[in-house]
Amino acid sequence: MVSRKAIAAIAEDYRDITVATVCSHSSLQIFHGARQEGFKTLGIAIGKQPRFYDAFPLARPDEFLLVDSYEEIADKTDELIAHQVVTVPHGSFVEYMGADAFAKLPVPSFGNRNVLAWESDREKQREWLTSAGVTMPRKIANPEAIDSPVFVKYYGAKGGRGSFIAKNHDEFLAAVKPGMKYAIQEYVVGTRYYLQFFYSPIAEGGYRLSKGTLEMLGIDRRDEANIDEMYKLGAQERLRELEISPTFVVTGNMPVVLRESLLPKAFDMGERTVERSIELFGGMIGPFCLETIVTDQLEFKVFEISSRIVAGTNLFISGSPYADMLEPGMSTGRRIAREIRVAQKRGLLGEILT
Ligand code: AMP
Repeated sequence: MVSRKAIAAIAEDYRDITVATVCSHSSLQIFHGARQEGFKTLGIAIGKQPRFYDAFPLARPDEFLLVDSYEEIADKTDELIAHQVVTVPHGSFVEYMGADAFAKLPVPSFGNRNVLAWESDREKQREWLTSAGVTMPRKIANPEAIDSPVFVKYYGAKGGRGSFIAKNHDEFLAAVKPGMKYAIQEYVVGTRYYLQFFYSPIAEGGYRLSKGTLEMLGIDRRDEANIDEMYKLGAQERLRELEISPTFVVTGNMPVVLRESLLPKAFDMGERTVERSIELFGGMIGPFCLETIVTDQLEFKVFEISSRIVAGTNLFISGSPYADMLEPGMSTGRRIAREIRVAQKRGLLGEILT
């Protein structure tokens, strides 16, 4: 990985920053927010220029960089730096390019790339969160020990693809894909809330941490096919007859608000996660999402963390019930751009780019 110092030196020479990201996931929001803060924008597209941006003129990038494959992005380093590019990573960018290749890309990137090693390995993710004092669903180390419903998922952000429920070892063996790294968690029954936070190491005021400020920009819940609509087909027996089993493929997002009495717990979890990240790897910077299930005992269990902008923030391009109490109309995309702008003005780009 390129040293933080070297990246800061590149960024400090930038006079006119261009915000760039891969044309997918939350790119409309990232470009829209960057334009609102007065940045030029560059869309990195695979193959050909996507047409759908023409339908959204306020979010269309000023320029496109076309590459044949995600691997080719690394070959464009000089071009990106000449364009004074700061990349903004999102789930698809990191997953498709590969966490290792993204970590090594010698172009200034928003956020702390050290987080990748802690996030992409589910064991390390668990170590980070549990040592922070955040409750996760119980881990089942040995598939033979499955004696109640469990949730099995593979490594990497796959939008829920491939995950499955098993109630015993036989069901696990019938569904597991050979050769893939997996993690098994207790199946938690409750309601899902995806808490969208933003941690700024340079902001002052607000909900203060040991260094910087924690903000909440929104909460969503994912729509997942086909689990969310299965009830329409009737009872489980009928589903079995039809040979349909639940899948968890994310197809969209819905806005939610938490009952207000749960907010202190939500902030406590966010705070612990950030403070521990500072101890472990120098701090996660910018947007992150705690993916939680709240039980009927009103306890949160965090089943996953995403340490960058999540697609659920796309709901809140023009603000959210939480962001509006920070600054009306603030999206996560715009908040990222604001952070870059403020850091640039204060000579602090080295604090937020790696
Ligand atoms: P993930 O692949 O971790 O993003 O999870 C995809 C979906 O699986 C979530 O949105 C939940 O619907 C569900 N899920 C994940 N982990 C659990 C768990 N431990 N208990 C119950 N449902 C889960």
